[in-house]
Amino acid sequence: MRIPPPLRPNLRRLVLSVVVLTALIMLATAFHASYRVQRHMLMDNALESNHAYAAKLAESVEGFLDAAQQQLAHSAEVLGEGFDDESVLLKESERLWLQTDSFNAVGITDAQGVIRATAPRQLHLAGQVSQSTGGQQALEARRPLISAPYLSPAGNLIVFLSHPVFTRKGKYLGYVGGAIRLKHKNILNSLLGKHYYRDGSYIYVVDQTRRLLYHPDPARLGTMVGANAIIDNVLEGGSGSGSVRNSQGIDMLAGYAPVPLAGWGIVAQRPLESTLAPLDSLMMNVLGRTAPIALLTLLAFWALAYFIARPLSLLARQARQMDASPAAARIQRIRSWYFEAAELKRAMLIGIALLQQKLGAAHLDAQTDPLTGLQNRRGLARALDGLTALQRPFSILALDIDHFKRVNDTHGHDIGDVVLQKLAGLLRSESRPSDILCRNGGEEFIVLLPDTREDAAAGIAERLRRKVETADMPHGDTITISLGVSHWPGGAAAIEEVLKRADQALYRAKKMGRNQVVRASETTL
Ligand code: GH3
Ligand code: MG
Ligand code: MG
Repeated sequence: MRIPPPLRPNLRRLVLSVVVLTALIMLATAFHASYRVQRHMLMDNALESNHAYAAKLAESVEGFLDAAQQQLAHSAEVLGEGFDDESVLLKESERLWLQTDSFNAVGITDAQGVIRATAPRQLHLAGQVSQSTGGQQALEARRPLISAPYLSPAGNLIVFLSHPVFTRKGKYLGYVGGAIRLKHKNILNSLLGKHYYRDGSYIYVVDQTRRLLYHPDPARLGTMVGANAIIDNVLEGGSGSGSVRNSQGIDMLAGYAPVPLAGWGIVAQRPLESTLAPLDSLMMNVLGRTAPIALLTLLAFWALAYFIARPLSLLARQARQMDASPAAARIQRIRSWYFEAAELKRAMLIGIALLQQKLGAAHLDAQTDPLTGLQNRRGLARALDGLTALQRPFSILALDIDHFKRVNDTHGHDIGDVVLQKLAGLLRSESRPSDILCRNGGEEFIVLLPDTREDAAAGIAERLRRKVETADMPHGDTITISLGVSHWPGGAAAIEEVLKRADQALYRAKKMGRNQVVRASETTL
């Protein structure tokens, strides 16, 4: 009866699961790492380009302010010569106003703060005392100045650049100044106010006091910005980049650079979200490229799992039927191409060989008489089967000890047994290797003589009878035997019949006085 195998996962599935799991984990890890790298790269790029942009812008603004100051310096030199000549004053202020788009208005003021000339002239301020914040600062400082941005009485946010006017001897005559209205058309506005605000990117400019000078939202111009690490950095003259959350709570990647001449800070920033927008398609791309390779690898591993598991699964299948006779041949055919499988296969083959040896021995035991070591009835039947199957003629000697009861009665059963063993020894020494010797039960024996005719067999029987008759027996006496001889096929096809004939001949030998040989052919005659 075969026990059904317990429900357990098989090796192939286990190996395959491990492989699939490993592949998935590796894929996920690689995917995640790739995601981190791409994200980092996009952010770094944005930070770097924003920084580069802010720095370039700061440099341009610095350059512009420097050029504007040089223009004023040149005018101051001209004015030092002709400060009393109104036409010179007018000409110089017009030139400053018209030559470039640097200033929205130009004014020349004397040492008392009285405005001497303006451009455009329509301002009609000549002769008035200057009230402007920038003007007052210029008057007090008597050196080149870029004012902090301030709100003019007309409501314009203004930066005032000024340069003092001295005579050649160093007498202070006043100053020449240019007003830049931050919200109006001029070079600075072109530089800072016009940008392509793609993907939510924008720039803004703050002055020393954190006031917004430029911002894409016009409503915020002139307002203060709150605490912000980036603004702190840039107003301390720092230049760099960093992540920051803007006033709307949006995460930004900002680059910043200072404008040292004016003490301003320029910040260029881009929302993190729009920076990372290409990440999804990048990752899809990565997936698209890795998926076929991963699939191929998986297939290759599947095949490998199959080839690794195959010898073991075949061996396991055979292990369940090792008692079946063709098991060894089947196991022999299994290709065990690696060490463990080969060892298992070897062990199984050895196991089968041992098993069959044991079975063979048991088989032999079952056919042997334990007392004499001759064949028992089962061994006799097998021998007869073999001979008749081969159609090999043979003679039969049926042999019985005469008056054996007496031996037992006189000397005891144990001595009787030893006598039986002695007789068996005699039979063995008197027979050929091809003869088959059986103890048929009790003190009766059957001897099969292959390829022996009945008359020859009778001769052998007679020789045996004489040998026994003269042999010393363990009970200190001799014994005699009676024998019946028959032959197969001898005309009778059934083996039982031939056995019976030998028995009948033996019976006759007993009847005729024992210690003699009788041939079956004689009895039937
Ligand atoms: P006969 O000449 O007619 O054969 O006389 P016999 O005494 O041999 O008579 P029978 O064949 O009827 O008796 C067989 C005796 O053999 C009976 C039993 O005591 C003895 N015997 C049978 N088997 C064994 C055995 O295994 N060991 C011993 N010691 N004696 C056995
Ligand atoms: Mg008997
Ligand atoms: Mg007897």
